[in-house]
Amino acid sequence: MKYSLVFSLAIKEVLIIGNPELRERSSKISDFGESLQEIIEDLKDTLTHLQKTKKIGRALAAPQIGHMKQIIYYGLPKNPFVMVNPEITSRSEEKFWVWDSCFSFDVAFFVEIKRHKEIKIRYQDENGKIHVNEFDDDMSELIQHETDHLHGILATDHLTDGKRIILRQEWEKRFA
Ligand SMILES: [Zn+2]
Repeated sequence: MKYSLVFSLAIKEVLIIGNPELRERSSKISDFGESLQEIIEDLKDTLTHLQKTKKIGRALAAPQIGHMKQIIYYGLPKNPFVMVNPEITSRSEEKFWVWDSCFSFDVAFFVEIKRHKEIKIRYQDENGKIHVNEFDDDMSELIQHETDHLHGILATDHLTDGKRIILRQEWEKRFA
């Protein structure tokens, strides 16, 4: 008996800075059915592909692949998870400097910007269950970056000094 296995991966094209769709606000999810699960699969497959080919990156927001919905997929090796309808409910006064990039910049350059050190966030998981969590440092800045995407905001919008932009190769020289 012969088996023919077909693995269909849903690798989507990532919208790149300059595309006006990236500036739109995404809508909230109220139906946690099949269409949500399909978008999550698209995000997971696309992020996994990007992590392999670009050798960097931790998360992807649905609007980056053209789904204008409030969904974020975090492809963290030990703990991949999904945030639906995330809302940052408090932000620490304390901020810290981070070098940030984005798949929607094709990870071609990095910007040095300030992010809140700690945040509190309320979100739903892929089944609609509500979670309230606090995050700091690395996770805090990542979540701020991703939730910004749901409101049409990009990391470059946080630049306060145009001199704080470097190419990826320079960033790697300094930090990798
Ligand atoms: Zn991004």
